[in-house]
Amino acid sequence: METGRSAKLEFAVQMTCDSCVNAVRSALERQPGVQAVQVDLGKEQVVVEASLTAQEVQQLIEGTGRRAVLKGIGSGQPDLGSAVAMLSGCGLVQGVVRMLQLSPERCLIDGTIDGLKPGPHGLHVHHLGDLTKDCLSCGEHYNPHGTRHGGPQDSERHVGDLGNILAGPDGRASFRLEDTQLKVWDVIGRSLVVDAGEDDLGKADHPLSKVTGNSGERLACGIIARSASLFQNTKKICACDGVTLWEERDRPIAGKGRQNPDPPSANL
Ligand SMILES: [Zn+2]
Repeated sequence: METGRSAKLEFAVQMTCDSCVNAVRSALERQPGVQAVQVDLGKEQVVVEASLTAQEVQQLIEGTGRRAVLKGIGSGQPDLGSAVAMLSGCGLVQGVVRMLQLSPERCLIDGTIDGLKPGPHGLHVHHLGDLTKDCLSCGEHYNPHGTRHGGPQDSERHVGDLGNILAGPDGRASFRLEDTQLKVWDVIGRSLVVDAGEDDLGKADHPLSKVTGNSGERLACGIIARSASLFQNTKKICACDGVTLWEERDRPIAGKGRQNPDPPSANL
């Protein structure tokens, strides 16, 4: 999904020679939505300025047969903080959503969520970063001003109201949003939840419309954690279990599948 909202994405890419560099460059340059590409062979680093989502850029790089790992996201300007939420739930829904505060008024939200039913799904920041009862203990929509539920473009809304994301026929929602009310520093330690149904943005007659947008059951959730901005993540090997950056690319973030890569994890 191209939205015209540009960000700089830093990837670690396995590259050993100049032909790798050329292959990566030609896969990215002149692609709609890609504004600039910098490749550093010595650092195995590719920095892409693009209005495409991180997932879309990663697919372009990996289309050359080389693995790519997103290491940071930034604006090119000194940014004001970034965060990440890894979403999971009882079912097969899982995803990664990144937030980047571009300026005091602009928060960029870039994510990919898999395993959804095709169609729109409500996405909200919830008050609590508490997953002790899975997504049920996340509290209500983050609402510091005590207002009613609304849509992301409404002035009267919960700060956590991010509206809907759209899953395609393959069950994947890949999105980049920009929000003027959400601030990264206010939501670190809270949670992000994706719902089973469409958020009516507070515009329907249902009793829940002005409370939750009546977007149904909470499918998957994750705590919003502080994350690396551009060039802040120098990790090559995960010190905790010796899984390298490249091996980790194909493994779950945690759990038994981390040491044994079967079954393959979702391509996040
Ligand atoms: Zn709300």
